Amino acid sequence: MSELAVRAEKLDGADELAPLKSRFVLDGAVYLDGNSLGALPAHVPGRVEDVVRRQWGELRIRSWEESGWWTAPERIGDRIAPLVGAAPGQIVVGDSTSVNVFKALVAAVRMADEGRDEILVDATTFPTDGYIAASAARLTGRTLRAVTPAEVPAALGARTAAVLLNHVDYRTGRLHDLPALTAAVHAAGALAVWDLCHSAGALPVGLDEHGVDLAVGCTYKYLNGGPGAPAYLYVRSDLQDRFDSPLPGWNSHADPFGMDPSYAPAPGAPRGRVGTPDILSMLALEAALEVWDGVSVEAVRRKSLALTDFFLECVTACTEPGRVESVTPAAHEERGSQVALRCADAGDVMKRLIDRGVIGDFRHPDVLRFGFTPLYVGFAEVERAARILGEVLG
Ligand SMILES: *Cc1c(COP(=O)(O)O)cnc(C)c1O
Repeated sequence: MSELAVRAEKLDGADELAPLKSRFVLDGAVYLDGNSLGALPAHVPGRVEDVVRRQWGELRIRSWEESGWWTAPERIGDRIAPLVGAAPGQIVVGDSTSVNVFKALVAAVRMADEGRDEILVDATTFPTDGYIAASAARLTGRTLRAVTPAEVPAALGARTAAVLLNHVDYRTGRLHDLPALTAAVHAAGALAVWDLCHSAGALPVGLDEHGVDLAVGCTYKYLNGGPGAPAYLYVRSDLQDRFDSPLPGWNSHADPFGMDPSYAPAPGAPRGRVGTPDILSMLALEAALEVWDGVSVEAVRRKSLALTDFFLECVTACTEPGRVESVTPAAHEERGSQVALRCADAGDVMKRLIDRGVIGDFRHPDVLRFGFTPLYVGFAEVERAARILGEVLG
């Protein structure tokens, strides 16, 4: 056994999160794509079957009350809240991340002073956030300016209404400084909207602690909610009364069953709802979140950094110098839970990795992306992935 393989065994032996792996459905492959689609928790199919057969099939309409369907968006929001450092009553689950970016950004602009005519957006963002931000700017009569997170402090000013930022860059895995950037946005008198798609479930976020105004995130990556699982929207409690939704559907009405032709928004987190929640996905997510019971986000972060450190070390040991180059920062405070390697023929290399049971993904034009989900990825798998990468690269 190589020295790295011996160390991997020791690290696995000392890993307090290792027992959690047995709660997931996995096969012999090394699954490093949990930052795109989290693995299936083993108890979820049985729970979904109960929702379909008993709650829907037998109780039918009664389930809106008796099975807690109606209140699921807020209830599950409160289940996510501790994972992102939020007190209860500020998160509602529903719709996609794209839709929630729209709600959050338009609402943020509507909260800002009239005279502020500019929205800043992360120029390196996952494209959907940029597309939605452009539409939000057109609808609210503001100008959209794309700047990198590093350029944000200098770009802020009296014209800035709101800023849409990513906590972790989906391509490079770079972790941005949420506390400092939020403070800078506030110092300029603007509102900060954060996208947590690649951080929630992988590292501490501290929404309340850092005074974030609004945030969104998806649940099918590190939260393992399943393909297309509904996203979530956080609106800080003291801003909720001013949250003016651009999609004020009947589910967000103060009295939804009053069927009033005029709109009156609900108080609190339900104001972020739109229409009838997609119960099947939502309750699959609720079941999936049970794997977090008793798990500390700090422990997850410690393991995540240990996994990515070890992967980088193994890649260096297993590949010819210069064959791959990490575009993920080496500094812990700048690293999310993935490693992105720039590599010639990356698309072809990833196909060969997948053929050999190492599942990551390829991002155009030249990036191999490997996500590390601390709940079910171990150190021996990390060593194996790097070793196979070395073999594939020749
Ligand atoms: C994954 C991801 C999304 C996905 O949005 P959907 O509406 O769920 O398709 C959006 N933004 C970021 C930053 C992401 O990483």
